[in-house]
Amino acid sequence: MPGHLWSLNAASSSTGVYLVCMGEPDPVRGPQRLTPWQRMAMRAIRKEAGKSGSEPLVEEDWSAVMTMHYTGPGKMLSRLFLRLPTSPRCSMCGAPFAGVGRLIAGPLGYRPSRKNPNLCITCVEASPPGGVTVDTGVLFADLRGFTEESEGRTPRETSDLLRRFYKCAESTFFPEAIIDKLIGDEVMALYLPFLRPGIPEDEIKLLMFGQAVELLRAVGYGSEQGPFVQVGIGLDYGEAFVGNIGERALYDFTAVGDVVNTAARLQGEAAGGEILLSERVAAALGESERGEAVSLQLKGKADPFAAYRCSAAR
Ligand SMILES: [Zn+2]
Repeated sequence: MPGHLWSLNAASSSTGVYLVCMGEPDPVRGPQRLTPWQRMAMRAIRKEAGKSGSEPLVEEDWSAVMTMHYTGPGKMLSRLFLRLPTSPRCSMCGAPFAGVGRLIAGPLGYRPSRKNPNLCITCVEASPPGGVTVDTGVLFADLRGFTEESEGRTPRETSDLLRRFYKCAESTFFPEAIIDKLIGDEVMALYLPFLRPGIPEDEIKLLMFGQAVELLRAVGYGSEQGPFVQVGIGLDYGEAFVGNIGERALYDFTAVGDVVNTAARLQGEAAGGEILLSERVAAALGESERGEAVSLQLKGKADPFAAYRCSAAR
């Protein structure tokens, strides 16, 4: 991506410190003034990546960026953020974008990025373009029959229900997963094992499944009053390309690859209260946990797809 190299060394000037784009000026935002906290974060990334002086960060330095939130001061800051109210938050570092928390995180520079309102400015702007190919756990949760049922609700009621669902998702998935999408009636969560070195792959799969069950319980499955919305979930695990994908003005922190499509398709096959798991995920679970073996004809796949159907929270 020519012209897309961000130079994260702070360039001093008489008016302060700016994030410098090594290419044409950003047509969307122009130069961005950095807070001392952001400068600290960037120094930490450069140190982790082993970059000195004015060397720009490149695609290979992605893992350094990601590691930042899970080690040392970055980890402490993320923990602090998660204690502060309120959702929505940055999907990567947990900085709160609303309520009291916003009054603390905002002035430090952790405001929603215009490029991806699910992430804060620091996380998006401090990340190099491109990404890394890594094993990734993908969870899709979707509201069943929500559009049809919305016809009987006022827009306000629909929005309140969605917010309640998002809240359940955030309190279930944070801080273990990155909530990549919180759009419409769908949530996509990413589990990135490389952020947790030393944790075996099977444990990540167990975590994904555990959180899927937890989300179903959070919306009310298994409770006396029943669920307040119908939710179906799909899970898969495999190689994906994760990072800032797209052109600079439309950067989106996301994951792409077959694993993402498969998890989405599996979710499409799940009824309310069901979790559909690929064989790759089910392999980490005990026979009694993973439910019933099914063979599915998934869109975009020529052969029948072996999966497991589980209604754990019913
Ligand atoms: Zn952030």
